[in-house]
Amino acid sequence: MLLRQKDLWRSVFGLEQTVIERVFMDHDQGAIILRVRPHSRFGRRRCGVCHRRCPGYDRGEGPRRWRTLDLGEMMCFLEAESPRVRCPEHGVVVAAVPWARHNAGHTYAFDDQVAWLATHCSKEAVRELMRIAWATVGAIIERVSADAKKRMDLLDGVRRIGIDEISYRRGQKYLSVVVDHDTGRLLWAAPGRDEKTLAEFFNLLGPERCAEITLVSADAGSWIAKAVERYCPNAVRCMDPFHVVSWATDALDQLRREVWNTARKDGQHAVASDLKGARWALWRNPEDLSDHQRGQLADIARTNRPLYRGYLLKEQLRQVFQLPHLRAMDMLGRWLIWARRCRLAPFVHLAKTITAHLAAIEAALQHRLSNARLEAINTRIRLITRVAFGFRSTGALIGLAMLSLGGLCPALPGRR
Ligand SMILES: [Zn+2]
Repeated sequence: MLLRQKDLWRSVFGLEQTVIERVFMDHDQGAIILRVRPHSRFGRRRCGVCHRRCPGYDRGEGPRRWRTLDLGEMMCFLEAESPRVRCPEHGVVVAAVPWARHNAGHTYAFDDQVAWLATHCSKEAVRELMRIAWATVGAIIERVSADAKKRMDLLDGVRRIGIDEISYRRGQKYLSVVVDHDTGRLLWAAPGRDEKTLAEFFNLLGPERCAEITLVSADAGSWIAKAVERYCPNAVRCMDPFHVVSWATDALDQLRREVWNTARKDGQHAVASDLKGARWALWRNPEDLSDHQRGQLADIARTNRPLYRGYLLKEQLRQVFQLPHLRAMDMLGRWLIWARRCRLAPFVHLAKTITAHLAAIEAALQHRLSNARLEAINTRIRLITRVAFGFRSTGALIGLAMLSLGGLCPALPGRR
């Protein structure tokens, strides 16, 4: 083949350190095949895992093929021998090639394009366009994100983090996630929600960078508090105000159910049905209420004093987190006195819980971490857990989250 023609093929597929021996059609597969070998500059005897130069072992199992980007309507594959080497560290492994990741059936260009598409398009679009199964997309995402993590240090300069747990697989399994408050990026995620899981993150960070963490925001999980105390000597722990307000909403709902049950048992069917309908009116922020819901609340104020008291307690606690630090603490102190004496069991209990976490709640009021950002990331992770349904491993789910929200998504091939 003319030299110029080989250069053309190399540019078309963005192949580096690769020699193209010939190009032909595989009529059975209806595909274009590029017969290739690594250029001598790359070397034929490198460990597939660590890329170190090693002695050869044998010729392996003959030629292999790697799917690369389509050309027009045609699927394209690279084909090459796959000799094995003996690495002092990794044993007998298939030699590295310059066009694909170790053990991958697709080239770098193909992998990167799939990873880019998976973070920008629908599942169906990726599958149709690339002509691959969704499980294959998962495997590609896992290796692209693992590779990117090796090359980029996401954990440098991290000072203020948020830790949370997210359920997936219909609420049966959990991910622990760590988010950078300053960049709004997802830093890390792993399966599990316990101290041991979180210890993996702090070990990855290392003692020096752990010591530089100044603020950690989290919910009330004692496993988070314990891990933070153990690994981050200089960190102040903040209780996410969003969680505190959600406790008050739960307390109010519990109260509503108690009142509703009593009304039902006493045969007050009209009251019971009104209460059932008023659930949303009690939950929503007053500024978002419809006229009808406002009416429902007014009815409760008239006919059901205890429940209305619960509503006012919930609303006032929500107000606390909208005030500046000192005024908020003053109002929270008065709120606690009121709640302890309110004779509504769910709120008396809530007052105890809040008292137990008072230091972390005050830290949140003082430092004003942007929890809205954290919530936005969590919402997007929840969405990703649904998209990732059909991936074979949790690693692929985490990989997709890191590509989408951790800044690890590769550029499209040839666009760097
Ligand atoms: Zn090796």
